[in-house]
Amino acid sequence: DHAAFDLKAHIRAIPDFPKPGILFYDISTLLRHGPAWKAAMAEMAARVMPYRPTLLAGIESRGFLLAAPLALELGLGFIMLRKPRKLPGPVIGFDYALEYGSDRLEMQADAVKPGDRVVVLDDLLATGGTLAASVELLRKGGAEVPLVATMVELTFLNGRSRLDVPVETLAAYD
Ligand code: IMP
Repeated sequence: DHAAFDLKAHIRAIPDFPKPGILFYDISTLLRHGPAWKAAMAEMAARVMPYRPTLLAGIESRGFLLAAPLALELGLGFIMLRKPRKLPGPVIGFDYALEYGSDRLEMQADAVKPGDRVVVLDDLLATGGTLAASVELLRKGGAEVPLVATMVELTFLNGRSRLDVPVETLAAYD
């Protein structure tokens, strides 16, 4: 199931970022190309709409660049899932393990209510830890998560196996 245009031609892989030995997939080149960004967002809209979300959530920070414009296009609200201590007012958080250490995602405590159907967007699915944490956080707030979606998937890390929700991705690398 492929986008009609060549999305991979607009994504570049940068070696040794942020650390030696890591190959970083960069969507900056997609975002700076108007027609390609538009085509990618149209494809994402087509993947997301069947899941009938009531809200879209973006994961800080590149997830915001997908979720906010898509929410606007679909006429939906947008919520931010952020790193700790960034959001004002009462928040709820979810802690998750990293390869070395741990991290935490937070959202405003009143961001979702029971019955909300929240699709989560991010730029890239690697091990799935970040998206899994986002799903748990939204459930903690009472929402359902019918889908998580990213532009890029690193299939060799098998991130899908950590997720108990459907996953849509537009470009897979192995
Ligand atoms: P995961 O939790 O291992 O699935 O890692 C996914 C998170 O790390 C996402 O929020 C991504 O933005 C970020 N990430 C990991 N690898 C890359 C990459 O190659 N390019 C861009 N973002 C990445």
